[in-house]
Amino acid sequence: MKPVCDHPLEPAPLYDVWTADTRTRRYRNEMLRYRRLLRMLPRRPAAVLDAGCGTGFMSVLMARRGWSVTAVDANPVSLAAFSDAAAAWNIRVHHADLFRFRAEPADALVCQEVLEHIPDDRAALKKMSDFLKPGGRAVFCVPYRENLNAKNVRCPKCGAAVHRSGHLRAYDEAGFAARINETGFRVVRIERIVNKRVVKWLASARLPVNGAALAFDRLVNGLFPGRAAYLAAVAEKRVPQNPHPAGAPDGRRER
Ligand SMILES: [Zn+2]
Repeated sequence: MKPVCDHPLEPAPLYDVWTADTRTRRYRNEMLRYRRLLRMLPRRPAAVLDAGCGTGFMSVLMARRGWSVTAVDANPVSLAAFSDAAAAWNIRVHHADLFRFRAEPADALVCQEVLEHIPDDRAALKKMSDFLKPGGRAVFCVPYRENLNAKNVRCPKCGAAVHRSGHLRAYDEAGFAARINETGFRVVRIERIVNKRVVKWLASARLPVNGAALAFDRLVNGLFPGRAAYLAAVAEKRVPQNPHPAGAPDGRRER
């Protein structure tokens, strides 16, 4: 789908998880997403790229687990929100557009709350496959079955209806998996994560986002899939097929 108008949106007020009120639903929602995504990454420390890192909370969680983290985002205001933490955890931070960014291929990649903003999300996925070693793991996360029209506002310049956060499309499991599978990856699994009911219960009961909350979220997303807030995909970068395997340059096997 093409954006209905090309006028840049007024940037939404930055949600800075570092300074946010920890008692709110929003904060628990964020914590639950970060922690569910963290569990989808390989356990063994390695080099990871946080593509569209925003205010860098995920980058810091990964660095604290012993990962070597590179973080890139096009928004300098977001990046400034974690400059101290980035220095403390040796995170390499780059201010760049994803499509112009170049990096050594990493062992793993995380990309959350990014694809729904990009007009050509397939091109973005293809570009991100360049940032990974063959066989490397990617974790992608987008809003699940978002009702885009419910969040429309009028563009002040042309009057067109545009999503208030700049989301350009809604994703379901099949469409999300197809895009990832078409762009140099193989989907390993797709999970619905962060059930809105769970977030509500955690906030109203003032419960923390701990291991029990994560397990509860997984369970409730199975029971009430319509209330899931996000889709998360675990994928692997495809290993290129070698037309001439070593030892058989002319196609014959050695006897
Ligand atoms: Zn407009």
